[in-house]
Amino acid sequence: MVDKERIERAVAEILQAIGEDPNREGLRDTPARVARMYEEITSGYLDDASKHLAKTFAEQGGELVLEKDISFSSTCEHHLMPFFGKVHIAYIPNGKVVGLSKLARVVEVYARRLQLQERMNAEIADAIDKELSPKGVFVVIEAEHTCMTARGIKKVGSKTVTMAKRGEFSEELKNQVLALIF
Ligand code: ZN
Repeated sequence: MVDKERIERAVAEILQAIGEDPNREGLRDTPARVARMYEEITSGYLDDASKHLAKTFAEQGGELVLEKDISFSSTCEHHLMPFFGKVHIAYIPNGKVVGLSKLARVVEVYARRLQLQERMNAEIADAIDKELSPKGVFVVIEAEHTCMTARGIKKVGSKTVTMAKRGEFSEELKNQVLALIF
């Protein structure tokens, strides 16, 4: 569980360290707001992807399921800055499928943690691979990292694309999925 009082003290400390007055009107409630925000953006630690993927439906002859443009916002563990974008999930069912909203739930489970885009990508692919046992799964994430666009090299609008594949997913099918996504 998140220790909100401790976060509040730490945020007040940061405000003082950068030369601000934590007691001025605009900042008075900032430590408490930031503490509530951290509780929300790290709530995925208390959630479990397998819970959302437990209820499945029998599938008849579907060759591919693609849920694209699942928007997300996560937090970069190197800078504690947001990175956000879209997750695209494609899988080849092996007898069972899951409700489409559940895939978005799985994205939330991993996005609401301190993350690296590559690891989040692998975790989503692994969860689907483990819980649905599909013939293959292919997950693509495109994201803008504010630690790159708001500071550092400041390339606003630049995106990082990562991909993770589990099981059998041919190059041909991957290319078809990519053509449907981009
Ligand atoms: Zn970063």
